[in-house]
Amino acid sequence: MKITYFLPFLFFYCIASSQPSQIKNIFIITTDGFRWQEVFTGADSAIMNDTEYVQDTALIKDLYWDPAAGERRKKLMPFFWNVIAKEGQLYGNRLLHNNVNVKNLYKISFPGYNEILTGYADPLLIPNLRINNRNKNILDYFNSQESYKGKVVAFASWNMFPSILNKKRSRIYLNSGYDSATGGLDITDDMINATQGQVSHKGHTRYDLLTSIAAKEYIHRNHPRIVFMSFGETDEFAHQNRYDLYLEQATNIDKMIEELWYAVQTDPFYKDNTIFIITTDHGRGQDLLTWHGHNGFIKGSGDTWLAIMGPGIKPLGEMEFPGQIYQNQLAATIALLMGEKFVTAHKIGKPFLSNEAPVPASATASFFHQTSSN
Ligand SMILES: [Zn+2]
Repeated sequence: MKITYFLPFLFFYCIASSQPSQIKNIFIITTDGFRWQEVFTGADSAIMNDTEYVQDTALIKDLYWDPAAGERRKKLMPFFWNVIAKEGQLYGNRLLHNNVNVKNLYKISFPGYNEILTGYADPLLIPNLRINNRNKNILDYFNSQESYKGKVVAFASWNMFPSILNKKRSRIYLNSGYDSATGGLDITDDMINATQGQVSHKGHTRYDLLTSIAAKEYIHRNHPRIVFMSFGETDEFAHQNRYDLYLEQATNIDKMIEELWYAVQTDPFYKDNTIFIITTDHGRGQDLLTWHGHNGFIKGSGDTWLAIMGPGIKPLGEMEFPGQIYQNQLAATIALLMGEKFVTAHKIGKPFLSNEAPVPASATASFFHQTSSN
């Protein structure tokens, strides 16, 4: 569907009536290059039936297909649609003209993570190379405050994060790629490290499951207050033209986030005072021929999505009204939720917080009743 209408500057704020002081902790979670199309409409019939991208089309259909988009997306991401849709907010369904976009021109990962974490869509191209990021990020900002010092951590599957977060300058705890686990109980760290050691082909992206286990253990033992977790395999599988594995990984990520949320909500340190913000660094192509790629020239690569849940976040579910958020607004929003103001040398996007009620779009009804034959 072509979106011909959106309101670039009119955004109805929906997070709110929150007392920032009640919120003690924030987890920022990303899954690389995961499209809004799958978040909001589940598996794409055009791609899932193409044997170039799916090895067992019948099995993938059994696992992920339903003619109704509302059911299909639930099959793919049950935590998103059974829990976040009830308790939190989901932005980015472009079929309802609710848009989330990157502001940077490049629509690749380094500029995307830079924009999320620094609030600045750097006009200079930062290629996906080991270049120390010149921009100050929100993790460092928190860590420089007395009340958060030593309580800011980042776990990432992609081994480029030492550059993205400028580890040379940063003091935060960062575990990325196949870094060894440290900071937990020795025996647990030893087990994680032994398991990682068994991986025979270590690419630049660690298995997301290993990232998740390392992070969960660390979080359980050390109770950090600001957590950044970045998963990478959704992008990896897409680049490998494997829509089947891309879908499976989406379900895996949904499950890992679910387990993390459960762990948080059953830990007195985190229970009811922790916010999850979940997003992606960039979108991907929109159709059968382009879905696996993304860059400034591939249409759809800048289209993203955002989920948020936790204390003070109104349980509005899916944002079914026209709106526009940009990726560069996240850093300031995160700071505001924590009752802080992110101050940097560069200009950053404004927070997207307000008390206004959303206005339902007329497109909503047709979206929920749309069906497709295969
Ligand atoms: Zn990519």
